[in-house]
Amino acid sequence: MPENNVPHPTFATRTVTCPACGGPSLYSPDNAYRPFCGERCKNHDLGAWANEDFRLPTTARENDDADEVLQSPQLLQ
Ligand SMILES: [Zn+2]
Repeated sequence: MPENNVPHPTFATRTVTCPACGGPSLYSPDNAYRPFCGERCKNHDLGAWANEDFRLPTTARENDDADEVLQSPQLLQ
């Protein structure tokens, strides 16, 4: 009797961590927004980048406490 009854994870489908919200994201051809978990997270991530880029120079000029604002986003991860 062959014991090929053991279910194994599908090769193309697995769960990864969404870079935007840190939640589970389905990494499969069904998810057009991978590695994000959905359209919202993908758009949010792109928007955050654009906003940050825009905000930094303006805030730095208006506030003397710009040092805190100028922290690299990479340090927050
Ligand atoms: Zn997400």
